Amino acid sequence: MHDHPTQLDEYAWPTCVTPGCGRQLWVNETGRWSCRPCQDATSKRLAELPGLFRQLDTTAALMRGASTQGGGMGGTKTPPIPPRLEVLALVGPGGVAARLSAIEDAWRQTLGWTVAPWRGSPQQAVPKHVDFLINNLPWACDRYEPVGQDIAELRKLHGEMTALASGEKRPGRVPTGLCPAPVGDGYCGSQLTASTNSHRIRCKTCGAAWETLGEWRTLRAAQEAVEDERRARELEAAA
Ligand SMILES: [Zn+2]
Ligand SMILES: [Zn+2]
Repeated sequence: MHDHPTQLDEYAWPTCVTPGCGRQLWVNETGRWSCRPCQDATSKRLAELPGLFRQLDTTAALMRGASTQGGGMGGTKTPPIPPRLEVLALVGPGGVAARLSAIEDAWRQTLGWTVAPWRGSPQQAVPKHVDFLINNLPWACDRYEPVGQDIAELRKLHGEMTALASGEKRPGRVPTGLCPAPVGDGYCGSQLTASTNSHRIRCKTCGAAWETLGEWRTLRAAQEAVEDERRARELEAAA
């Protein structure tokens, strides 16, 4: 809790309420709750959120696509993409959109405005929440006492999204299907694994590698083509 002092014997120069900032406010910032550098940094982070969201959503779409193909004959299909559950959680209904919406609703309530209108899916809602928050951030830093906790929450959210989008360092390897690289008349077929701290998938047997989102798509398409061919051969043999 932060109180701008009113009594002389308690006098201390007012400071920014953002956790971790505590910068003394300038004379021309008197009466504000949060300092201008915090406002500028928050505005910049907010502006980056829609792009980060789209990036994570693309990854999530590929993971969802992979996971729906589980089961089937032999159960050999495994998602070629490291299943980062944090990504799915952030782009889902309780993720980024809900966290931005909670801040927007609190601001609206304080301003005496109606609650936020229905913004649609998280994909549709995130840019709209961001627009609202950017437009009203100057008011919040100026007049909204709890703004410090929202600035901290937006900083945390931005940090989580940036870390996931750029491939956070985490230990562990996950199986990502069999290597579809052509070898001789057939295929390599070694078990591929991906480290969850890297986007790079490399076959230890034949050296084939896939690194970008586009290459993951290529990898999955190749794995599916190999699997389809295998099934066709099985059916042929059974006939
Ligand atoms: Zn500050
Ligand atoms: Zn291989």
